[in-house]
Amino acid sequence: MIRLTGATVLTPDVEHPQGVLCMDGKRIVYAGPAAGAPPAAPDDEVVDLPGRAVIPGFVNPHTHLAMQLMRGIADDVALQPWLQEHIWPVEERMGEEGGALEQHVLAGSRLALLEAVAAGVTAVNDMYMAMDRVAEAIGEAGIRGVITRGIVGHTDPERRKLRLGRELYERWQGAYGGRIQVALGPHAPYTCSMDYLGEVAQAAHDLGARIHIHLAETHQETADLAAQGLTPAHVLLDSGLSRQHVIAAHYVAPAESDFALLEHMHVGIAHCPISNLKLGCGFAPVARLREHGIPVGIGSDGAASANVLDPFLGMKAAAWMAKGNSQDPTQLPARTVLRMATYEGALALDLNDVGLLAPGYQADVVVVDLRATHLQPVFDVFSALVYTATARDVERVYASGKLIYQEGRHLAVDREAILAEARGAAERVTQQALRS
Ligand SMILES: [Zn+2]
Repeated sequence: MIRLTGATVLTPDVEHPQGVLCMDGKRIVYAGPAAGAPPAAPDDEVVDLPGRAVIPGFVNPHTHLAMQLMRGIADDVALQPWLQEHIWPVEERMGEEGGALEQHVLAGSRLALLEAVAAGVTAVNDMYMAMDRVAEAIGEAGIRGVITRGIVGHTDPERRKLRLGRELYERWQGAYGGRIQVALGPHAPYTCSMDYLGEVAQAAHDLGARIHIHLAETHQETADLAAQGLTPAHVLLDSGLSRQHVIAAHYVAPAESDFALLEHMHVGIAHCPISNLKLGCGFAPVARLREHGIPVGIGSDGAASANVLDPFLGMKAAAWMAKGNSQDPTQLPARTVLRMATYEGALALDLNDVGLLAPGYQADVVVVDLRATHLQPVFDVFSALVYTATARDVERVYASGKLIYQEGRHLAVDREAILAEARGAAERVTQQALRS
């Protein structure tokens, strides 16, 4: 058993100073005050961590890991020209599935996971192409992931991408001891017809798979749906997608009637505040969605748009966006934001034993060092973690009970090899020389 002692342990909303967390194999067996901890056994590994906080691993409910290769190639551009003039041409050069694309996606995903793991992320939800390689990268990093082959319907009359999604499910669902889950991923209502969405819904129902979709990403998208007599929630309902658990990314622009509809669906929202702010897409009404009992996690989106996969920045952006947009500083207090970045992210992905420090939950555990000068003094641990701490303050990351990161060192993967591989891939696919 691994026994973390001396740190402030955060169980759902309660802090336990000088608390204890015990992990046995892949599961947490105890988290709470030292007084209630099981007796120590002689062969326990005891790690004493005064001045630190022990929190659940962060869950990133929406990203495109391989887009790490395109970080910073086109900033300060509107969504459509950004896609058409910058991203899609690079994706063309990445190659074909079964060919060069595989190697590029692997390089980008590995690079992304270096950043994510060092920032305390232990679960991701990814949509892209060549997803076998993404599964591989997640598997070797030691964390868990929901993976989705993106389905862009209007260029897919043969339904090839749906077939790839189904095959991905058959190959990878439950792989790496259950760490990999596979969802079906219709990209968005503006890239898939209602007929195609209906076919995806049927396939997901047959497999028992989750759905991962971009939804209500801009006000324009919601206006375009309204012109067809639809709302974003009605897209899910009318297509049959809502028969499955749905992970809806962005939800910046709900129709007024959507809130009540979503309440009755098995749906979670992946709020991506940094991406939404940077692309000028709008402000998701997170507080209202949560009032309706809908779980809202904090996602990054891909590094090509958001530039960072850092959940500490994501938490700050979510809190600041909600308060600034509503002119109400009581919206999304620190405890709520930390809960969204961990537990609600897991609920949004329908991962029901992830995101809490509680007995029986997966031992995905992060140790944050609160002793740095930029954190002192600490009056409130939740405040310090959300408003002050940075990814640099992450000291240890355990995933499924295994130590995968410690004090700047990646223990499951070869950081230098991954960086070298990614630099070559980034130059090839962007046809640009790196600056350093
Ligand atoms: Zn996205």
